[in-house]
Amino acid sequence: MNRLCVHTVTTKPLSFEQCLAEFPKYGVSGITLWRQALEGRDLNAVKRQTADSGMDVVSLCRGGFFPAKSAADRQKSIDDNFLAIEQAHAIGAPLIVLVCGAVPGQSLVESRQQITDGIAACLPAAEAAGVKLAIEPLHPMYADDRSAVNTMRQAHEICDALGSSKSVGIAVDVYHVWWDPELKSQIDLAGQTGRLHAFHICDWKTPTTDLLNDRGLMGEGCINIREISDWVDATGFTGHREVEIFSHKWWSGDQGEFLDQIASSYARIYA
Ligand code: ZN
Repeated sequence: MNRLCVHTVTTKPLSFEQCLAEFPKYGVSGITLWRQALEGRDLNAVKRQTADSGMDVVSLCRGGFFPAKSAADRQKSIDDNFLAIEQAHAIGAPLIVLVCGAVPGQSLVESRQQITDGIAACLPAAEAAGVKLAIEPLHPMYADDRSAVNTMRQAHEICDALGSSKSVGIAVDVYHVWWDPELKSQIDLAGQTGRLHAFHICDWKTPTTDLLNDRGLMGEGCINIREISDWVDATGFTGHREVEIFSHKWWSGDQGEFLDQIASSYARIYA
């Protein structure tokens, strides 16, 4: 198995059916479904169609966004995470990736407490459904409104606060954490604690022209992807390497050509 997984959002112009038909042609063996792809669909059919494609469902993206100014809004987000857990269970996704959220003007410490409380509220349902949750630390440029969890260390602290549950862990995305001087030791710790739940790859371009939607294909940028990947594998991680690229540039072109580039850049990195 080549461990290559592609997120449905990576080829955003393709429909869910097109992703299922196209990905395997390029040697993709795993798929991570974004919840947008599920909208209005029968989840049993989604599960069946995905199984028929021959690809593994690696995870469902995404839950989270726990912090909010009012208790009512925090409850609304917890309810949405309950729905995500039901969806993941229904389609056979073993994991939900959490983009944890943040509120501009609210302290990051307060937001992290609300994130911890939100995950705690969701954990029993996740455990009952057999679905794991993965906190994805986001690059600090998103600390204002997307995630108050910006380092692996902070993700570990939240896991520690939640106790010994094996259902909550961490998603390592090279785009968000490649700069962290503690990265290797925090990946090692994630391995030792059984928390390394997912591994996402893409590249950091210079210059980056859009902070959200100008991610590079592996090899287009400056991230030491293979080295980080080797640290991840050294912990015993054998899961998929998930290509998650948001890119106006790649979305505006032919998606078959893009998938071809994904497959060849992946093959170069892991040759
Ligand atoms: Zn990611």
